[in-house]
Amino acid sequence: AEPRASSEDSKQKRSTSKTPAKEPVYELADAEDVAEPPAEITEDEVWDKRVKAALKSLDKGVDQAAAKQIINEIVIHGDEVHWEDIAGLEVAKLALKEAVVYPFLRPDLFRGLREPARGMLLFGPPGTGKTMLARAVATESKSTFFSISASSLTSKYLGESEKLVRALFQLSKALAPSIIFIDEIDSLLSTRSGSGEHEATRRIKTEFLIQWSALQRAAAGKETKSDVGDASRVLVLAATNLPWAIDEAARRRFVRRQYIPLPEGPVRVQQMRNLLGQQKHTLTERDMRQLEVLTEDFSGSDITALAKDAAMGPLRSLGESLLHMRMEDIRPIMLEDFKSSLKSIRPSVSKEGLQEYEDWARNFGERA
Ligand code: ADP
Repeated sequence: AEPRASSEDSKQKRSTSKTPAKEPVYELADAEDVAEPPAEITEDEVWDKRVKAALKSLDKGVDQAAAKQIINEIVIHGDEVHWEDIAGLEVAKLALKEAVVYPFLRPDLFRGLREPARGMLLFGPPGTGKTMLARAVATESKSTFFSISASSLTSKYLGESEKLVRALFQLSKALAPSIIFIDEIDSLLSTRSGSGEHEATRRIKTEFLIQWSALQRAAAGKETKSDVGDASRVLVLAATNLPWAIDEAARRRFVRRQYIPLPEGPVRVQQMRNLLGQQKHTLTERDMRQLEVLTEDFSGSDITALAKDAAMGPLRSLGESLLHMRMEDIRPIMLEDFKSSLKSIRPSVSKEGLQEYEDWARNFGERA
C-alpha cells in the first residue's frame, strides 16, 4: 500500500480532485482483494504527464532549469479557492467570469468582437481579496495557476529573472488554459524601474513586456506557426496596492482595470458569519449590527484578523488550565471578545489612503 499512501499525500496538494480515467469496476471479493488499489490513472499522474510533455515542447531557447523552477515554485496546486469563499465583490466576480472563466470554458463563443481581454489589473487597498479572486478564477476556469510576486522577480530571482520570465510565458502556453498572476505588479512596471540605477529591474521589465506582447500577438492569430500551446487561453492577471506607481504605457496595456474596494458593512457581516460558521458563539443579529458599525474601514484581511483574535478570547482567560478543559466546557465566543480585540486590531488603511484609491478608480478604473 506504500505508493498508494504517497499518492494520497500529494493529492492533497492538487487543485483538482482525483478522477479515474475510467470508472473502476469493483467486484465483491475477500478483504485482501479489496485492499488492493484498483488500477486507475490519478490526477497526479495526468498532471505529471502534462508537465513532462510541456517541458519537452518548449523552444530550445528556453532554459529547462528555469522551467522546472517555475513548475516547482510558481505553479500553485491545492488550497482551492471558490467564488463562494470570497465575501462580496459581486461586480468583480462577474467581470472576471465574463473576461476569463467563460472564454476559457467556451473559447468557441468568444471570438471576433467577443474576443476576451488578455490582461486585467486588480487594484485596491491591501487585503481586499485580490489574490483570492485570482485563485478562484483559476479554480473555476480549470486553469493552471502561475503565481509570482513581481518583487520576488526583482529580488529573490534577480539574475535569473529574464530566463524565468521566458520560461513562465512558454509554459503557460504549453499548459493552457493558464492564468499568470503577478502580485505587486507595481514593483515591475513602475516609472521608477526605468531609471538607470535599477538596470537589472529594467531588463526584467523589458523582457516581461516583450513576452506579454508576443503572447497577445499569438493569441490574436498573428503568429501561429511556431507557437507552442494555446496562447489564446492564457491571461495575465495582475494585482497592485499602488496602482498610481505603474507607468502610463504599462497601465494602458491592461485594458481592464478592476477596482477591488474595501467591503461594505453587509459584506463585512457576511464574512464574519462565514468565519464564525463552525464555532460556538452567542452573537445575535443585534450584535452583528454593532460589529458592522465598529468595523468601518476594515479590509477583508482585517476582518479575518479580528475574528481570529476574538476567537482566542474564550481561551485567554483560562491560562494553563485550558490544557485540561473539555471542549464542551469552553465558553462560546461573545460580542465582548470582539470588542476587546477591536482595541488592538484596527483598520490597516487610513481615510486619506482610501481617498487615493477612490480617485485613481474614478480616473482609470472600473468599479466593483
Ligand atoms: P489582497 O491580495 O487583496 O492583498 P488577499 O486576497 O491576499 O488580499 O486576502 C488576504 C486574506 O484576507 C485572505 O486570505 C482572507 O483571509 C481575507 N480576505 C480578504 N478579502 C476577503 C473577502 N472578500 N472574503 C473573504 N476573505 C477575505
